[in-house]
Amino acid sequence: MDHGQWKPAKIFQALEEAARVNEQAAPGRVGDVRRRNLSLVLDSIARNGDAKPSRAQVAAGTGLTKAAVSSLVADLVESGLVSEVGLYRDGERGRPGQGLELSSRRGVVGMEINVDYLAVGLVDLGGSLRFSSTVESRNRGLKPGAVMEKLGELASQAKAAATSAGITILGGGLAVPGLVDEQRNIVLSAPNLHWEHEQLNPQALLEDAPLGVRLSNEANSAALGELWYGDGPADFLYVSGEVGVGGGVIIGSELYTGPGGSAGELGHIVVHPEGPSCSCGGVGCLETFAGQEAIFEAARIPEGSLGRRTELLLAALAADEQHAKRAVRDAGRYLGIALASSARLMDIEAVVLGGHFAVLADWLKPAVLSSLERYAPGLLEPESLTVSRLEHSGTLLGAAGQVIRAVIESPFEFILGKPA
Ligand SMILES: [Zn+2]
Repeated sequence: MDHGQWKPAKIFQALEEAARVNEQAAPGRVGDVRRRNLSLVLDSIARNGDAKPSRAQVAAGTGLTKAAVSSLVADLVESGLVSEVGLYRDGERGRPGQGLELSSRRGVVGMEINVDYLAVGLVDLGGSLRFSSTVESRNRGLKPGAVMEKLGELASQAKAAATSAGITILGGGLAVPGLVDEQRNIVLSAPNLHWEHEQLNPQALLEDAPLGVRLSNEANSAALGELWYGDGPADFLYVSGEVGVGGGVIIGSELYTGPGGSAGELGHIVVHPEGPSCSCGGVGCLETFAGQEAIFEAARIPEGSLGRRTELLLAALAADEQHAKRAVRDAGRYLGIALASSARLMDIEAVVLGGHFAVLADWLKPAVLSSLERYAPGLLEPESLTVSRLEHSGTLLGAAGQVIRAVIESPFEFILGKPA
C-alpha cells in the first residue's frame, strides 16, 4: 500500500465539492448542505477578520456562488453572528459592497480558576477582550463550591459589562489548572488546588447563556489563545508558568491532547532523578524547579501576595541579587532540559513561553537557550523560543475562543433562532 497517496485534506475537499453539487441535484438534502455552507461562510469571515471581506470575496474564498453566499450571509446577519461594516468597491465597476465581520455585539465570557487568583474576561466574537478582571484569591485547599461562588461574583461583573456595552453573552469557557473531563464537568485532578475528582457546575456561572459554559485545562486554553489571538505558528509547544507548570501542544493549528486529555504535561517531565517530591506524587519534575513557588522559595522571597512577591523578585533580579539570579537561572536550565527532551520526541519547531516565564523572560531565556544548545544541539533555533504577548489574558481568550470556534463550526442552531 502506498501511504503517499493518503491525503485527507484532498478527500475532504472532494467531499465538499460533492456536497455543493448535491445542493443543486438533490433538494431533499439541502438542510445538511446549508448547515455545512453556513459554517464555511462564517469560517471564511472569521479567518479574514482584519480584512472584513465582502460577499464576493467570501464567494471566491469558499468556492460557493455569489447568490448562495448572499443568502447564507443574510441568515448569519439576521441571527446576530455577523455584522456589516463600511462600504467599499468590489473591483473597478462593481457596486459598492459591504465588509463582513463577526459581530462585536455577541460575546463569550472566558474564566479562569488558578491557585492564587481568579480571572474573567468578556471576549466578543471578533476576539477583542472587551472587559477583564483579575482578583488574587488563595484557592489552594478550598472546596470547589467556595471558589465557584467567588468566581460567580466576577462573572456578574462580566455580565454587567456586557449589558452596558450592548453585548449578548452566548456562552462561557472555564479554565482550571488540572486534568478535566469536559463532557461531565469534572476536574479529574488539580494537584495544586488539592482537587481530586471534583464535580463542578460551571453552567451556574452564566445561567442565561444559551451555549452554557465549557470546562477546559488552563495550559491548553492558553495555547489555543496563543494560536488564535497571539503570534503562535501552526506548530508549537506553549509553556504555561504558574504555581504549576503546564504545556499545550499545537500541531497543524489544532490542539493535541492525547486520548486521555493529558498530553503536553511539561511540568511533570522528570528533569532530576533525585529532585524534590512533586505535587503529582512523582519526584524531580520540572515544576519542582520552575514553578512559581519553587522560584520564589529558591530566591528567598518572603511569603505574601502573588503580585507583591513578583514585584520583589523582579526588584531583586534588577539589583543583581545572587539568590534571585540563581533561582531563575536554575528554573531556566531545567526548563531547557525538559524542552530539549520534548523537542527530540515531538519534532517541535517553536516554543512560546507564557505566565511567569514571560514575566521573567529577560533573565530566564539565556539559561533555557544554553540548556537547549547543550542537550539538543541544533534542534531548536534561538529565534524559535518566543514570549507570549498575551500575558495572562491568553488563557481567558483561549477558554472563550473554544466556544467561539464551536459557534463557527456549527452556526445552524443560531439560524433556527434557538439561542436568543
Ligand atoms: Zn510532578
